[in-house]
Parts: sequence; structure tokens; C-alpha cells
Amino acid sequence: MVLYLENYFGDVWPEIAANESPITHVTNGIHTCSWLAPNLKELYNKYLIPYWQDSIQVQDTWKKIENIPNEKLWEEHVKRKEKLLKIVRDNVTNSMRANGIGYEEINDMVSKLNPNALTIGFARRFATYKRATLIFRDLERITQILNDESRPVQLIFAGKAHPADKEGQDLIRYIYEIAKKPQFKGKIFIVENYNIGIARYLVSGVDVWLNTPRRPMEASGTSGQKASVNGVINFSVLDGWWAEGYNSKNGWTIGTNDEYSSYEIQDDADSNSIYYTLENKIIPIYFDKDENGISNKWVNIMKNSIISTGGKYSTSRMLCDYTENLYMPLINLSHKYYNDLSNVADFNEWKSKMIINWNKIQIEQLNNLDNISIDAGNKIEVTCKVILPDIDVKNINVETYAGRITDNGTIENITIIPMELVESNDEKREHIFKAKLELTTGGNYGYTFRVMPKHDMILDPENLNLIKWITA
Ligand SMILES: *Cc1c(COP(=O)(O)O)cnc(C)c1O
Repeated sequence: MVLYLENYFGDVWPEIAANESPITHVTNGIHTCSWLAPNLKELYNKYLIPYWQDSIQVQDTWKKIENIPNEKLWEEHVKRKEKLLKIVRDNVTNSMRANGIGYEEINDMVSKLNPNALTIGFARRFATYKRATLIFRDLERITQILNDESRPVQLIFAGKAHPADKEGQDLIRYIYEIAKKPQFKGKIFIVENYNIGIARYLVSGVDVWLNTPRRPMEASGTSGQKASVNGVINFSVLDGWWAEGYNSKNGWTIGTNDEYSSYEIQDDADSNSIYYTLENKIIPIYFDKDENGISNKWVNIMKNSIISTGGKYSTSRMLCDYTENLYMPLINLSHKYYNDLSNVADFNEWKSKMIINWNKIQIEQLNNLDNISIDAGNKIEVTCKVILPDIDVKNINVETYAGRITDNGTIENITIIPMELVESNDEKREHIFKAKLELTTGGNYGYTFRVMPKHDMILDPENLNLIKWITA
């Protein structure tokens, strides 16, 4: 979400760079204690600090997951898996029976549910951009993967399509048909009536949580967060929350960040990536078991997943972000100034005056540093003169806007440095500002100056759309 947000609102504030827009984001999080399986909660109670539920958003709370013995964590995971498989068995039995299928055929199907198989879950709304059938793009290859007798793999699907979404419904029908093919019989299970109750078992009972949205369409993908805190490992496109949450040790990714010229090419690349990672990473690690039947490598990834996402993708953290970054600054501002209507009237008057005068601001560069070379790591001082119309110097911020100029003329590593007022000639309304900038790397640097409005009653000066650049 962070990755694309900065470009969304570029048009709204034409005077500033897209990534400076005052629109910010808060990443979604899940209500940890509602989604954490009861037996895991008990286990975490033993190893995390007392009352850890009151400190969910604190990163240190989760580090102690490391101290859980691998066989303990695995044991509790297996319990959840067995519970899930029972639910799948009942659910599939009921729906087959409702379709008039005979007892023997039903038994033939559900008896194949295998607690020792690497179990991959996919459950969400069947909106087409989520690409539920991507894993079947190369039927030959997925047949091979699901039919290795020494390393069994099974898929569990659940989800609903919107009643008006025919394409979404077609995807579900397609999976039903695939699941009936002889080579997939007893390898692919579809759970009907996906709801929060079933979701609880799915997100805690499978081994891998598969998520295949078409980049960059996924807003968040909260089910992956539910899985992760339960030690279910995410295998997902780097989109939505996973673009933030993935750290190379806590799960796997699908595809790359490349842009594709067509959906076909994107789907080919992403499905190949699914097969490759399953064949070369996920399946080998899962079945690399010691004499106790535990893959320590696997359990370590489970632990990394819980530690790295348990606090960060919780509603506790989300509420802290909203409160600290958004609500409190606004409430403080409102209590301080907006309770008194005369303040608001004064502020409006001030704004009108700023708007009338703003364009008459003049900025002059005082030092000429063009075409000089400076070694990386050194600081340079830049100064400018601002000549103000009927605007108080208290009501402006002057900034140096600097960055490295790349070969193709764009600016990167942008820093915005507030400048210090060093001298004023009030009669002439001239003010000298100074800043030091540090060049951290070699290359071509450029800088410019700008003036922004300043007032205690504004949180985001960008919102007034009053920005004066030296060049303008
Ligand atoms: C969590 C959840 C969702 C949302 O999952 P996404 O990964 O965001 O698509 C949808 N339905 C149910 C029942 C859920 O529990």
C-alpha cells in the first residue's frame, strides 16, 4: 500500500512532489485475540510476558516466541490442522450428500484428507483480481506437484463470489470441475459457506496461506495477517500488506515487482513463480523432517512469521497509529484553537490575505555553487534572500529542497531542509535564510529554495496550495 500511495494524489497538489502529498496511510491490522487459536494463545501465555495481550503492538512482546521449543509449537499447530481437517471432512460430506452423491464416493473423497500433507489454504472473496485459479494455470505442473507420493500436497479452497459477479462465480465452478478430475481427486477440497467461523479454522489450520492478487490491486489482504499470527506461513504476491510485511525470513513471495504488458504475461510469470517456489523451496523445507518428524527449518519460519507480524499487523498497532499520528494532533488543534469562533474568523482573514499576497514573494539565491565539486560527506552552506509583501516573516517557512540528479535528469534522495532566519531588514522586508546540506554520496546534486505558509492552526501547510518556488 505504501508503495503506490505516494503516486495516487500527485494531481491534487500540483505544486509539490507526489510523495510530499499530505495524505498518509494507516496499515490495517487484525484483532489478534479474536483470531489467535485458543491453544496457541495458551502456549503464547506461557512464553510471552504476563498480560502480553495488553502490549500486542510492542515489538519486544513477540521476540520471546523464539523461546517456544520447536516441538511444542509444531504440536499445537498439528492440533489446529486436525481440527480443520475434521471441519473440511464434515463440510465436504454435507455438500456432497446434498448433491445426492453416494456414501462410498463421499468416503472415497474425504478419506484422502491427509494430516501429513503440506496443506495450502486459499480463502477469500472470489473477486477476479484475486486470481483464485492461478495455481491451475499449468495443469501438468500442478499435477506433478500434488501427486508426489513421498511428499504429498493438498489444497483447500473456500470463498464466496458476489451474487452479481458472474466471473467470480465462474472461478468457483472451475475449481469444482478441476477438483473432480481423476488426478486431483482427494487433493483439492472446497469448503462451502465461507464465513468468520470457518475462516478461524482455515487461517490457523493450514500450513501455507496462498494469496495471488494481481498487483497492484490488493488493498490489504487481512486474512494473511490472521494466518501469520497463528504460525501459518504466507506465500503471497508482494501486494497489499505483504509488500510491507515480508522480510525474506518470514515466508515467500510470488512474482516480482515488474510491470507487465498484458494480464496473460503477468499470469504466466506469477504462476511459474508459484510452481518454482513450491518445488524448490516450500516443499523441500516442509519435508526436511528430523527423527521426531519435525522440520526445524519450517518451524523457524513459522516463528519468524509470528515475531515479525504479530504486533505490527494488529488492531492494537493500527489504533496507536490512528491515535498518535492522526486523531491526537487534530484533537489538540481543535481544543486549542477551534473552540473559539473568533480564532476561526481571524484565521480565515489571515488566509485571504496570504492568498492575495503570496505571489508577490520574491526569492533570490545568494551564493553561487553551480558547477563546483565537493567531496561526499562534506557539508555546504546555502543562503537565500526572501523579499516579503504584506506577509509577516513569522508566517513563512523557508526550505532548501535538494537531491541527487540522476543521469536521466530526475532527482532522487530528496531532502527538505528547514532554513534558519539569520538576518532581517524590516524596512525593506528582506530576510536572509541559511541552511547546511550534507552530501552523503558522490554524484551530481541540485538544490532549490521554496517558501511555505506557517500558522499554528494548520497541520499540513501543503493544504493551502501556497508554495513559492524560487524558479516560479
Ligand atoms: C479476513 C476475512 C476476509 C478478508 O480477507 P482478505 O484476505 O482481506 O481478502 C474475508 N472474509 C472472511 C470471512 C474473513 O475472515
